[in-house]
Amino acid sequence: MNLEATVMDVAVNLLRQAVTSLPEDVKNALKIAYEKERSQIGKIQLKAILENIEMAEKTNTPICQDTGLISFYLEAGSKFKSLEKVEGILLKAVQRATKEIPLRPNTVNPFTQENPNDNTGKHVPYIHWKIVKGNSLKITAFPKGGGSENTCTLQMMRPADGLRGLKEFVVDCVIKAGGMPCPPTIIGVGIGGGANIAMDLAKQALMKPLGEPNPNEEAAELEHELYEAVNKTEIGPMGLGGDATTLAVKVEYAHRHPASYPVAVAFQCWATRKATATIHVDGKVEYLTHKPLKDFY
Ligand code: SF4
Repeated sequence: MNLEATVMDVAVNLLRQAVTSLPEDVKNALKIAYEKERSQIGKIQLKAILENIEMAEKTNTPICQDTGLISFYLEAGSKFKSLEKVEGILLKAVQRATKEIPLRPNTVNPFTQENPNDNTGKHVPYIHWKIVKGNSLKITAFPKGGGSENTCTLQMMRPADGLRGLKEFVVDCVIKAGGMPCPPTIIGVGIGGGANIAMDLAKQALMKPLGEPNPNEEAAELEHELYEAVNKTEIGPMGLGGDATTLAVKVEYAHRHPASYPVAVAFQCWATRKATATIHVDGKVEYLTHKPLKDFY
C-alpha cells in the first residue's frame, strides 16, 4: 500500500465530488426551500438550481463554471505517516484535478495578473491544519466561488454593541450582499478571538452539517434568530425575490479580548462545494459526505 498515492487519489476524488455533486444535507435543504417557497420567481430559480445539480451529477461535470479557489481543511493524526509530504501531494493533486475534471484555472498573481493555469499559487491551495490524536488523516476539500467570497465581511464591533448590534450587522451584510453571493446561501458567523480568528471561524462554520443544531444553547438560539431575520429580507433565490435567502446560519465563537468584539460573516452560495474523507492507517478510505463516484475509483 502506497499511502502517498492514496492521499493524492483521495484529494483528486474529493475535488471531483465537491465540484460535480453537492452533499446530501445541502441538496435536502434546497429541496425543502423549493417546497416552501411562496414567490413564483423564487420557485422558478430553485427549480433551475435543482435541475442544474441533477444534470451535473449525471454528466460528472462542474455544478458551476466558477470551480472556486481551493482550500483543504485537514484533521491529521499526529502518527499519520508522511505528514511532512502532505502539502506537496495536495498541491500536485490540485494540478492533476485541474486537468482531469477539468477545473477552471482561477489563481491570478495580484501584481502581474499572471495565471499559472493549474489552480495553484502562493498560499494556494490554502491548507488549514489541525493536529489530533491518532494515525488517520481526514481531508475536506473546499473549493469556494468568487461571488460568495466577495461578500464576506469583517467588522471590529464595540463590545457595548452586544448581541443586538451583532444581529443588525449580520442582517445588514445580507442586505448589502443582495444577489451577489447567489442565494439561497449558507452564512457562517465567527464571533470573538481576533480579526483573523473570527474570519477563520466563520469559514469553518460553513463546513458544518446542515440540520444539526449548535451544541451551545446561546449559539443555537442566535443561529435560529438570524435564520428567521435573514429570510425576512425577501432577497430570495438568486436575489430575485422570495422567502429562501439563506438555507442555514452557522455560528462559531472564541473568547475575545475585553476591548475587542470581532464579528465575521462568511457567505457560501447555493453551490456549497465541500467533500470529506478519512484515510486510515491501513490505506482504507472512508468517504464521509458523498457516495464514491464509481467511474473514478
Ligand atoms: S457564487 Fe457560487 S453559484 Fe454563484 S457563480 Fe460563484 S460559484 Fe457559482
